[in-house]
Amino acid sequence: MGEKLPEDLASLSELDEKSLLEVLTGRFTQNLIYTYIGDILVAINPFKYLSIYEKEVSVSLKSLPPHIFAVADRAYQSMLGRLATGPKNQCIVISGESGAGKTESTKLLLRHIMELCKANSQLEQQILQVNPLLEAFGNAQTVMNDNSSRFGKYIQLRFQNSSVKGAKINEYLLEKSRVVHQDEGEQNFHIFYFMLAGISTEDKEIYGLLDPTRYRFGKEDVVHAWRLKYAEVCNAMDMVGFEEQEKVDMMTILAGILSLGNIAFETTDSDALKVSEASRGWLKATAGQFGVQEEDLLKSLTCTTSVTRGEAIQRLHNQQQAEDARDSIAKVAYGRVFGWIVSKINELLAPKVDCDVELSEIGILDIFGFENFAVNRFEQLCINLANEQLQYFFNHLVSMENSFTHARFVPLFQDLFLTKPIGILSLLDEQSAFPQATDRDFVDKLNSKFKTAPNFEVVRNHTPLFTIVHYAGKVQYNASGFLEKNRDTIPANIRELFINSVTPLLSVLFAATISRTGTLMPRKAKHSLAVLMEKMFAAGPHFVRCIKPNRSKQPDQLDSKLVMDQLRYNGLMETIRIRRDGFSWRPKFREFVERSFGLFSFSCMSILNSTQLSGWKCGSSRLFFKYWHQEELSRLLERLGRAALVIQKNYRA
Ligand code: ADP
Ligand code: MG
Repeated sequence: MGEKLPEDLASLSELDEKSLLEVLTGRFTQNLIYTYIGDILVAINPFKYLSIYEKEVSVSLKSLPPHIFAVADRAYQSMLGRLATGPKNQCIVISGESGAGKTESTKLLLRHIMELCKANSQLEQQILQVNPLLEAFGNAQTVMNDNSSRFGKYIQLRFQNSSVKGAKINEYLLEKSRVVHQDEGEQNFHIFYFMLAGISTEDKEIYGLLDPTRYRFGKEDVVHAWRLKYAEVCNAMDMVGFEEQEKVDMMTILAGILSLGNIAFETTDSDALKVSEASRGWLKATAGQFGVQEEDLLKSLTCTTSVTRGEAIQRLHNQQQAEDARDSIAKVAYGRVFGWIVSKINELLAPKVDCDVELSEIGILDIFGFENFAVNRFEQLCINLANEQLQYFFNHLVSMENSFTHARFVPLFQDLFLTKPIGILSLLDEQSAFPQATDRDFVDKLNSKFKTAPNFEVVRNHTPLFTIVHYAGKVQYNASGFLEKNRDTIPANIRELFINSVTPLLSVLFAATISRTGTLMPRKAKHSLAVLMEKMFAAGPHFVRCIKPNRSKQPDQLDSKLVMDQLRYNGLMETIRIRRDGFSWRPKFREFVERSFGLFSFSCMSILNSTQLSGWKCGSSRLFFKYWHQEELSRLLERLGRAALVIQKNYRA
């Protein structure tokens, strides 16, 4: 193998972008995809199988070089209070752009934590089966990633002492629009293809499914692998604990979504709207699969009923409106099914312990990275604001740990866009509450509030556009549809339609009383993210920064510019500097002596002077250590402690 390259970028004496890139590239070509920056793990996606995840590797972890398993180990040991003192609850934040390896890292972390805590095999299996299940329903092939997660998730593992007792998942912002529309080179959610390819002839009949090529929502050549995937999903559902009838209902609803997508409309000579002749069969099939009356379904597609002063008024749709109604039914139904799967998993994996038992937690956050497309919509705004918050969280923690280094990160963005009462989302909520307000009105409001803000740029255009300067770059947003998406209300007649369904799962999903079972509404996304942030601020943080080496998903290829860009906008360059120069551990004299040397009544200085520790500083009331000192010190202490015990013994004797 080649030369020995440093495992920790914060230890580089020479710190410029060039040397940094050299180390990362050098390591990458030796298949060393993991590198530390202090205690932050940088992971470069290898896009190929590496033998570093085999069982033998994970067993000999103690002496392990930078590795994703080491992060799992650190979080687990911290939770058990075996490392530095701090909060019991831990959170691991994984970031990176699409295809950088976040979800794979999450799976590796989960797997290793399960191994560390020697989980009982049934619960372990249940927890590990959650991923294939969620991926089937929430992932899809995109231009960036063949298995791209189209939702964000926070997985919390719950422990009683050292053993895992259960798990809980929060999901964020499922990209429901994918059900009805996929751009060039992209696909619908995996489950549709798996189902169409893998289903038995018998079940096909039960669900009323036809040949895959017949469906607009899922057109694709059947791949053999999908057949196996379907079996895997069914198996995962069994293992996690879904009941047979629930599975049947779920698949039937999916079949209904496929049929619904094929309904086309046409206008008659007398200008009335009707379902095209060729689609009559699809209408009938959909009604059957959704367990609703054909006339009711037709009505909810072709007209809107509103109640004014106690009087029901019917407004007929034009063709576009009918197509929109069709698509929104499909999206709503899919979103509800997904939300239901998650809440069902949470129910099945809830810890079975007495309520007075105190549980501790390791959370793993895997949410989509920053996005900047040709057209950026409401979904991108939500995702980018979430990332902005995460970056803020990261910067806050990194800079807070330093008193000698001036904190360069200014939480400008936070103040401008996310706080109440004038934050961007608050303004959006405010406008959404006015039934008459338009997307243009919203952008006008933004323009007038933020026109002088450094992170905002006014765009003069007849379409409602605006630009935000994010930490990762400028993004122009098209606000068309913002208010509607933010309201995310289900039209009363669609809700009515489903509540009356004879399919138990559907009527339950739409019953008003359990509205929270559905996926998180975008409008609630910021609130739920705020809750998440609060949780994370209170936990012991661990960061994994995933980097994509090239855009073509090829192994052994590293595009320097692409990597550098990611290092920069991740704030990693700045982090390296801070980690190297900063003092992250700053105990008071007393605290230092008590914690480290409780047994012996030495003074700080005599202790420290007797070690070979260098680079620390002494302030007026406390000591300043760099992040690596803590570990060095505990190693020293161990040796010293043993020696001291020997002395004590001899002394007594
Ligand atoms: P993200 O969640 O960041 O969008 P993924 O975790 O889905 O990205 O990774 C994209 C693809 O990259 C995976 O499907 C896999 O093929 C490959 N990949 C990611 N991490 C690894 C790894 N550690 N080893 C091998 N391949 C990986
Ligand atoms: Mg992912």
